[in-house]
This record gives sequence, C-alpha cells and structure tokens, in this order.
Amino acid sequence: MPELPEVEVTRLSLVDRLRDAEISAVRLGKPLRWPLGCEPASLIGRRVLDISRRGKYLWFALGARADVAADAAGGLLLHLGMSGSLNLSEQFAAPGPWDHFDLVTSRGLLRLTDPRRFGAAVWSPSRDDGAAGKLLAGLGVEPFDAGFTAVLLHERLRGRRVAIKQALLAGDIVVGVGNIYASEALFLAGIDPRTPGGRISLARCVRLADAVRQVLSRAVALGGSTLRDFRDAHGMGGAFQHEARVYDREGQPCVACGEPVRRIVQGQRSTYFCPRCQRR
Ligand code: ZN
Repeated sequence: MPELPEVEVTRLSLVDRLRDAEISAVRLGKPLRWPLGCEPASLIGRRVLDISRRGKYLWFALGARADVAADAAGGLLLHLGMSGSLNLSEQFAAPGPWDHFDLVTSRGLLRLTDPRRFGAAVWSPSRDDGAAGKLLAGLGVEPFDAGFTAVLLHERLRGRRVAIKQALLAGDIVVGVGNIYASEALFLAGIDPRTPGGRISLARCVRLADAVRQVLSRAVALGGSTLRDFRDAHGMGGAFQHEARVYDREGQPCVACGEPVRRIVQGQRSTYFCPRCQRR
C-alpha cells in the first residue's frame, strides 16, 4: 500500500513537470472509491497550478477556464488507495484494464493505475472546502511541518490509554506513520510499543518526534528507488524495508544489543521491537 513517503515521492516526481500543464481531455475507467464529483468535460481547459500533499492525499490545484465567463478555480484530490500509482508519460498508450483515470495534458498523459480501485480522484472547489475539506478533516499534523513538536505530541497523547504504537498508526495525531515506520520510530526512540500513550514523558516525546521525522525522511530519500517496488504492490517500504532495524526481523539479533527482536500483534498488525532497548 502506498504510504506517505511513496505519495510524497510521487508528488516530487510530478510537480515540476505538470505545473502549468493544460488539461485537454479526461477519461474515466471503472468506478473508483468515490465519484469524480463533476462533469469530466468541466476539467478541460484548466491548468495545473500546483500539486501539494496532505497525508496520503495529493491536491492538484487547477485554475479557472479562460473561455468560461466568471469560472471558478478548484482542484482534484487524488488518493492512491491500496494499490494505486500515478504516472506521467509522453506516450499516449491505450488504457489497460487497471487504468481508471486519465488526464490528457499539454505535458503528457497523467494516468491513475489502480487494480483494486480503492483510489480516487475527486473534484473540490478548494482544498479546505467541499469534498476535499471533508476528506481531509480530522487528519493529524504533517510530520515534516514545524507544527509537529514534542509538546504537541505530548499534549495529544495526554490521557490516552491506547498503546503508543496504535496511537501513532491512527493518524489523528500525526499522519504518515504506517506500520513499518511506527515500529522503526519506536525502536529509535527506545520506547516499548505497548506503553500507554498517556504515560510517555515530554522528554521521550522529544525523542519520538525526532525518530518519526528521521524514519519518514529516510523513506522519502529512498523513495526514488522504491517506486517500482510499490507500483508492483509488494506492499509498502520497498528499499526502506531492507534497512529496517526491527521490522520483519523476529528472532534476529537487535542491531544495538544482540537481544532477539520480538514480534507481537497489536490491532491485528505485527509490531517488532527489542525487549531490552525499548522500555515502558
Ligand atoms: Zn536491543
């Protein structure tokens, strides 16, 4: 499943190439998770102003149509779902059975390929209102934003009895900490994944916030080489997984102390940790 790092890598690979591209045709395949929410033809003539990311969503800001009186700007909110990928190509190849959304632009064909069709492209008048506003409401802070601080983390964890691993995965405190990244960040921070969120001190939140940023930025840095892996839907992680310190290393020696790495199940997801290095 594409995680925040893969979505960010996708954004980075598209933003400069698509900026100012004009849409000349739209093709819809089979229904995606949510309907487009506008007449496909109403996208024609709009230019891509920018592509930003919020959590695992990409926002394609689109300008107003020059030939429509008093037309309003808007945009498309795209999500890659479980198995989606976005590709911009100058070859206008015929769509395959998994290609469910195409934008033909002056800079090439932007195509959403999504075998499982949990992805979507949704029109919205802005990122903050309409369909996009609703879908993005309730997301936690961005891990790379200045607003993601130890103080904020500590505040949002206050009173929570749920295990810290699950609090991170929920995405309502900070977005983007998927299953691999949660195990890795807790290892770096030396925190037992079973620790109740509300019991983590401010000093440990400092280490945890740093660890989350470190793990996710490393994954983005490796993303360029993992893109093919994640397009093949072999699950998230790709190259990052090869340098995981605890994830998927059950029984192998901890890289720091040699103690065998343990696997437990929390909320039906595997968690890996070192029982010696990570404390409650
Ligand atoms: Zn250890």
